[in-house]
Amino acid sequence: MTDTLMAYDEALATYDPVMGLEVHVELNTASKMFCGCPTEFGAEPNTQTCPVCLGLPGAMPVVNGTAVESAIRIGLALNCSIAEWCRFARKNYFYPDMPKNFQTSQYDEPIAFDGWTEVEVDGETFRVEIERAHMEEDTGKSLHVVGATGRIHGADHSLVDYNRAGIPLIEIVTKPITGTGDKAPLVAKAYVAHLRELLLGLGVSDVRMEQGSLRCDVNLSLRDTPDSPLGTRTETKNVNSLRSVERAVRYEVGRQAALLAGGGSITQETRHWHEDTGITTSGREKSDAEDYRYFPEPDLVPVAPDAAWVEELRASLPEPPRVHRARLQEAWGFSDLEMRDTVGAGALLLVEQTVAAGASPQAARKWWLSDLARRANERGVDLVDLPVSPADVARVQALVDEGRINDKLARQVFEGVLAGEGTPDEVVAARGLEVVSDDGALSAAVDNAIAANPDVADKIRDGKVAAAGALIGAVMKEMRGQADAGRVRELILEKLS
Ligand SMILES: [Zn+2]
Repeated sequence: MTDTLMAYDEALATYDPVMGLEVHVELNTASKMFCGCPTEFGAEPNTQTCPVCLGLPGAMPVVNGTAVESAIRIGLALNCSIAEWCRFARKNYFYPDMPKNFQTSQYDEPIAFDGWTEVEVDGETFRVEIERAHMEEDTGKSLHVVGATGRIHGADHSLVDYNRAGIPLIEIVTKPITGTGDKAPLVAKAYVAHLRELLLGLGVSDVRMEQGSLRCDVNLSLRDTPDSPLGTRTETKNVNSLRSVERAVRYEVGRQAALLAGGGSITQETRHWHEDTGITTSGREKSDAEDYRYFPEPDLVPVAPDAAWVEELRASLPEPPRVHRARLQEAWGFSDLEMRDTVGAGALLLVEQTVAAGASPQAARKWWLSDLARRANERGVDLVDLPVSPADVARVQALVDEGRINDKLARQVFEGVLAGEGTPDEVVAARGLEVVSDDGALSAAVDNAIAANPDVADKIRDGKVAAAGALIGAVMKEMRGQADAGRVRELILEKLS
């Protein structure tokens, strides 16, 4: 069934959006939250398990100290208060990917609470209040085999991989985000991008959205005016790219607005996000008071971080993203607009890494924001998920700087790298993309161009040097773009002077 949507502008002229974002971050600790199992991504299914994370009878969990430290650092970076004493709780529900039949989480005693952070959209600053950041463990992964959708419905059978079960997670929950108006989708995207930057700066997670180490649930409701009570919300689960966060908010705004305007009401429910079609579909109905029968985890001691230790962690926090950006902008000599575009494109870190790999800031910015941004858009992925690394980009620019390829050939090199043909150097070699600056080959092509364009040649002989462009173009065409344009120009002027 296809939803009726109200045009976005009309929807936002009619209703006021309120968002809530829940972000799950997988920490990059070497071992799991409550056992010593490794956490490496991509291992053979069910090879990273033990009695604790498989929930076998009698197995006793122990809290991972590094995970607690990371949780506190995240809380501090989000300007949260840190609990002097808090406990884990059992969240009871049955699901096949959760072998214990409960998830060890935190309920009314989160480790961090009442924080805030700020995100920027088009030069405007939005404050996002943080309700809490709590510790929990990840579930395993169900794989529904042969279904066209990859979901339970229509699958022949299901397999479960418990490697992920017990990996430390931090869930960061915002308070309702209001006052964004028609910028809601951009604020949501900017917030998640901001968290990525902040978490990378802290070094607590690799925040690979496409590998699921950062996952976002988007709560959205509409109300008549900013003074009206909050409307009924939906929760769109597992929105796993920056691009999708923006699209999911936009979609729900249009869907809910059409329903409300037609006299309907919103069902409080979870919704599935479909990356391919860009729509959400109904999941399960959800009430506010879902009964998970939470109770304090009896097998774990409370977490009571020493105040002096917390202050030590606070003092050792990296510079906040805002300060970090200002420093980079200064060092790179970017205008406000260039910086804003770079951040808005989710390219800040990529540019930073490309510069670190040896490219100039302007060259790094140019490739990520033009050619590569276009390709990411065509593929429907975030820039960071393109199979090209900052080191590749720096290498391509180095080849340009050395005069071995030009910008046009560089685009073909990226095409090859993205198609999995190897490193930039391998693509240049395999595709024979190197610029020809050998005078013998160039001279012959220049002679051909002069012979084919006698009128242009005459103009140049008469001193109209600007006309050389037409001959350079003809030579480039004959040499399939692989001529050294500067040398071609010199040869033309030599021959016609
Ligand atoms: Zn284990």
